[in-house]
Amino acid sequence: MMQRRTKIIATLGPATDDEQVIADIIEAGVNLVRLNFSHGSFDEHRIRVERVRKVCAERNYHVGILGDLQGAKIRVGRFKDGKIMLAVGDEFILDADLDLDAGNQEVVGLTYKELIQDIVVGDKLLLDDGRIILAVDEITGNRVKTTVDVGGELSSSKGINRMGGGLSAAALTEKDREDILHAAALDVDYLAVSFVKTADDVYLARKLLQEAGGDAGIVAKIERAEALDMIDEIMEASEVIMIARGDLGVEIGDADVPGVQKSLISRARETKCLVITATQMMESMITNTIPTRAEMSDVANAVLDGTDAVMLSGETAVGAYPVEVVEAMSRVCLASERQDLLRFQTERHEPSVDRVDEGIAMSAMFLANHLNVTAIAALTESGSTALWMSRINSTIPVYAFTRHVKSLHRVTLYRGVFPAYLDFMGKTHAQVNRSAIAVLQRCNEVEENDLVILTKGDLIGVDGGTNAMKILRVGHLIEEENDPESI
Ligand code: PGA
Ligand code: MN
Repeated sequence: MMQRRTKIIATLGPATDDEQVIADIIEAGVNLVRLNFSHGSFDEHRIRVERVRKVCAERNYHVGILGDLQGAKIRVGRFKDGKIMLAVGDEFILDADLDLDAGNQEVVGLTYKELIQDIVVGDKLLLDDGRIILAVDEITGNRVKTTVDVGGELSSSKGINRMGGGLSAAALTEKDREDILHAAALDVDYLAVSFVKTADDVYLARKLLQEAGGDAGIVAKIERAEALDMIDEIMEASEVIMIARGDLGVEIGDADVPGVQKSLISRARETKCLVITATQMMESMITNTIPTRAEMSDVANAVLDGTDAVMLSGETAVGAYPVEVVEAMSRVCLASERQDLLRFQTERHEPSVDRVDEGIAMSAMFLANHLNVTAIAALTESGSTALWMSRINSTIPVYAFTRHVKSLHRVTLYRGVFPAYLDFMGKTHAQVNRSAIAVLQRCNEVEENDLVILTKGDLIGVDGGTNAMKILRVGHLIEEENDPESI
């Protein structure tokens, strides 16, 4: 049985606020759920987390939880009538001094006064993910006079970006700082930081999270033009990057997003930074029962390039077909993984490796891809051996065996890695080998005479201590008393 290697993240929302729906989307293939802190109260998020954990405990699923901070999304104020209609050539004013509730056909307020300092005459401002474009004609004090370049309906509180990026808003807002405390209280496995510009934004988020007692992996959302110039530093500082195509497309132009996506995925695969491809992947399924061919191609492309995970936003949060969309996404991931077109490395080409556990991971993957092996059992504390293994293209499943619930959840994001609980403390090497194989047999992953590669450390229970690789034949494991390695 071929398992899907690419992971699926589903955003929770009103459409999934039901135990049965949660069970169904997980059964359909969700590996991680996302809490979008842009919407909903802390209590709503807490209830969602409790619901997911209850369903997982009852059915023995391992599902990771990703909290996603809203970030400094600059928005226009509200309109008295909820919305206005802008026609090409209309004059329209953004006034940072205007009351946020006082918007009308001529003028609207801004949630971020400093926006004015960042823009100059001639700039283009993109509203509502670029659906409306305003050209800046004149700036006086806190008033920006513009002409409508691309018109349409503009409703209250829509986002506003400057074409080309360059807004100086801090990455973490007051609300984000509060939500970091919430994320720590909910003990999320990953924390996504929006509108990251530099590695310092990531370090700050991590520091605040740790001060609040959290230990989540940090996801840097790549959605600002400036982040692309600093991408190496940002990837070095983060466990994960998310290609946040919604806002990124607004900042750099939609036409450049596909190329940037490909280059970011390929960079991420060369390092131990994981990568999520996000936004509008199955957008039409918010209202339709089946995806478009274009959407299936889009997901397939990300899979072929080697993304660790693909993400659903509105499709599962507010869509009419949350279960069907996960099924469709899972289907196309699996089918694409079977194609002989995967465009990423089956071997590592770096001239040297830095660490022993990395070396073992690379050797295990080399052997797995060259010997007739059925599965890899990576005994791990923090999941680091399995993380290195996930960077290599293979059809062999990597089982991350660990006794830590945290690590089980962390590896849900790693491509080709599957969490498996095993407490190997106090066991001899021969016992550990046997229990790992027994788990693989129980889940029908291996049969008599299959070969399994097992990696572990001499000192069982030590972080990053993997220093051994062993090839076991199912049904032919030696007994305790004959094991020279026995301790
Ligand atoms: P958002 O981020 O959904 O939080 O805006 C993703 C994106 O911008 O694509
Ligand atoms: Mn965004």
